[in-house]
Amino acid sequence: MAEVLILLGPPGAGKGTQARMLEEDFGLIQLSTGDMLRAAVASGSEAGQQAKAVMSAGGLVSDEIVLAILRDRLAGPDVAKGIILDGFPRTQAQAAALDGLLAATGQRVTAAISLEVDDEAMVGRVSGRFTCACGEGYHDEFKRPAVAGVCDKCGGSDFKRRADDNAVTVRERLKAYHAQTAPLIAYYEDKGVLERIDAMGDIAAIRRALGAIVAGVSA
Ligand code: ADP
Ligand code: ADP
Ligand code: ZN
Repeated sequence: MAEVLILLGPPGAGKGTQARMLEEDFGLIQLSTGDMLRAAVASGSEAGQQAKAVMSAGGLVSDEIVLAILRDRLAGPDVAKGIILDGFPRTQAQAAALDGLLAATGQRVTAAISLEVDDEAMVGRVSGRFTCACGEGYHDEFKRPAVAGVCDKCGGSDFKRRADDNAVTVRERLKAYHAQTAPLIAYYEDKGVLERIDAMGDIAAIRRALGAIVAGVSA
């Protein structure tokens, strides 16, 4: 594997949106544990059945389940191009496990980039989110398709909203973020790999700021 980038930030910070752009701009592979878990729920697997209730309540799925899913995905051949972890790690235990997995093959985290945003704005971002079946993300107000009802990327019109993207669950998810994930900012700062980005601006400006960081660390 080349770069191992981590996008840290609360629900709605723009991790998924920016990870997809980093794929385009740098040829990296986005690994979203949220997407993997939703696929597991949809497949009805044992792990998916266990994750389902926790996800609808806005809590964190157990480290054991998440790590098993991620470990499988990291065994895929495509990750050799370098990865962007989106939504992982979310706990100290996951961060330590990731370090262990990487160390086993002589690698380490290249950079952990914290997307810094205001909690209050996140409720609006998450509540307006919808996604095309092709994976492209949109927003009712901030990122509308050029033609209403038609995906810019694939021309399809199979849009979905996540059941957990409601105002009540978002508040639970923000609590989980502050209690369990935000401490990872200090963890990566101590390792000397932390970068911070103001992620309250528009999507294109954040893309440029992130691009400069990624170009710098992967030189
Ligand atoms: P995350 O993966 O961090 O939960 P997303 O990338 O899915 O966040 O973004 C959440 C929602 O906010 C989506 O609907 C997305 O289109 C929108 N969005 C992303 N970045 C911005 C931004 N900088 N300004 C306004 N809206 C944004
Ligand atoms: P968002 O960034 O908008 O919060 P995600 O798609 O990353 O959404 O995650 C959706 C849900 O999946 C989370 O609320 C949580 O229940 C579960 N989840 C995703 N990634 C992890 C993880 N690394 N550890 C534990 N739970 C996770
Ligand atoms: Zn599409």
